[in-house]
Amino acid sequence: MPNRQPNPPFDRVAFDCDSTLSRIEGIDELGREHRAEIEALTQRAMNGSLPLTEVYGKRLATIRPLRNEVATIGRLYIENAVPGARELVAALRSLGKEVLILSGGLRMPVVTFAQWLGLRDEHVHAVQISFDGDGRYTTYDTKSPLVRNDGKREIMAGLPEGKRTAFVGDGITDAETRTAVDAFVCFRGVARRPEVAEHADAVVDTPSLAGLLPVLFTAQEQDRLGRDPRHRDLVRRASLEA
Ligand SMILES: [Mg+2]
Repeated sequence: MPNRQPNPPFDRVAFDCDSTLSRIEGIDELGREHRAEIEALTQRAMNGSLPLTEVYGKRLATIRPLRNEVATIGRLYIENAVPGARELVAALRSLGKEVLILSGGLRMPVVTFAQWLGLRDEHVHAVQISFDGDGRYTTYDTKSPLVRNDGKREIMAGLPEGKRTAFVGDGITDAETRTAVDAFVCFRGVARRPEVAEHADAVVDTPSLAGLLPVLFTAQEQDRLGRDPRHRDLVRRASLEA
């Protein structure tokens, strides 16, 4: 399928979390002494050279994270938020857009980050993991679509119809959503993966998420945001980075 024009307005915008809204890969931060091995597996899953299912359980079984370690990832997501993330979510919400996060990351820290971004639990799709009574990792939700390739596409395809939808992400599982959405936008402010960019309807290379404004909003919507003091900095930043 030839690439399409992003063609805003959109009624719904879904974001990947790791390396899109936050600069980190949460699972890599849990890696401790296994970090190099975990990073290599994540990288291969995100560029599509290994199926996500092969990587998912393997990384967790290697790390066996403690509940309190997993909880700290929420704070790391916040500390490493991509510039403009919270402002962009606020801008989308103020124009009445539905905003979602679809992440192959762990649900507890992604929800912590989502709340900081101004979203609620129900806006988050991510993977549950379980702990024993001592707070040690036992298992993960092996039935979640988000632990395998094509899972994000399935979730997007299953959402109520009738909303023009964009998906923003950096990984191969994000690019897979393109047949279920009206536009797939590849954000390369953190990670650059040619395998993902080639499937994108738009590629945004700016260091901050403000660079998404011209892709996600019509000129008229951008004017509206620019007239609102709450969003003026975001709009100014977008024009500086353009
Ligand atoms: Mg990502």
